[in-house]
Amino acid sequence: MPQFTDIISEPSPGVYILAIESSCDDTSAAVLLNRKALSNVVASQKIHEEFGGVVPELASRAHQVNIVPVVDAAIKKAGITMDDLGAIAYTSGPGLLGSLLVGTSFAKSLAYAKSIPLIEVNHMKAHILAHFIENADDEYPEFPFLCLTVSGGHTQIVKITAPDEMVILSETIDDAAGEAFDKIAKIMGLGYPGGPVVDKLAQMGDPRSIEFPISNLPDDQFSFSGLKTSVLYFLQKKIDENPDYIEENKADLCASVQYTIVQTLIRKLEKVAKREGVKTLVVAGGVSANSELRRELFDLGRRHGWSTFVPEFQYCTDNAAMIGLAGYVQYMIGARAQLNSVATARIEWGKEDKD
Ligand code: ADP
Ligand code: MG
Repeated sequence: MPQFTDIISEPSPGVYILAIESSCDDTSAAVLLNRKALSNVVASQKIHEEFGGVVPELASRAHQVNIVPVVDAAIKKAGITMDDLGAIAYTSGPGLLGSLLVGTSFAKSLAYAKSIPLIEVNHMKAHILAHFIENADDEYPEFPFLCLTVSGGHTQIVKITAPDEMVILSETIDDAAGEAFDKIAKIMGLGYPGGPVVDKLAQMGDPRSIEFPISNLPDDQFSFSGLKTSVLYFLQKKIDENPDYIEENKADLCASVQYTIVQTLIRKLEKVAKREGVKTLVVAGGVSANSELRRELFDLGRRHGWSTFVPEFQYCTDNAAMIGLAGYVQYMIGARAQLNSVATARIEWGKEDKD
């Protein structure tokens, strides 16, 4: 099975890439030397917590405030100067348009000022490629592999046959997995983002105490809006009987919701992996920080003798190091963005070539 380094060989001397991520509510900058992340600075925007979700206009304003100090910190932490940079990579989409524009404009201006190549990166591909950031074990997925990408905005199973060859095999038709965690946590009054809180409370609860429906759609589809509605109706009924129901059953509720979401994801991943005959599985995106999902993925691998990979925590949620790695791939295959390249909120990608 080919490795990343069989397909993309290291340049010598290495190239320093500054990467910028601003697609949602995290302003991030990183410096990579080839595949090694020398810095990865993330400023998470607290302002959205009081609204229970990301407010786009506030996000772009916060990016404007954060971007200069975050880039400055990433350069300093990497121990280099702006003059050492060989290229600038930035997220061009998908994401919130106003937020994307901040990173895009900044990256273009800096690349122009420094006369160095500009590279645009697809945020979703970057989540997957985060697995190739140099790590202490020096172990990376071999091609082909499947990635379960689960974040606040996406739920996908992607088949990766080479660093820049990816096809989406399954996708959500409504809410994303992270969105399900967030919306259910909101219904329960647990705050935003909901995923980490549910994960923590679930550790003290019984995952089989309440049975919620596990959707069983065709292989190419996920759905989570039914679960959200079923939790809502269930709680309305219980609260009618006992106003303190949520407070008294928090841990069991969280454990049961988490079990349902994780089983929905893992069962489909198993089915698709068998169908495709792929023996390497990875997860990516914010929800891959979930402890039960990680456990279940390893378990799935153990049962079938498949290799499994989860990213380091700092590379699960939105971060610029993954943009840098994806930028490195684009840099090495010679892809360059122009100063008139535009940020795009929705990107069509990963469709099977039918010709
Ligand atoms: P996006 O790019 O769509 O904003 P991220 O990749 O930043 O998403 O991931 C954010 C999402 O990850 C949120 O929905 C959050 O609830 C979820 N998340 C983070 N940590 C956990 C966890 N431990 N368990 C479940 N979900 C989590
Ligand atoms: Mg993301």
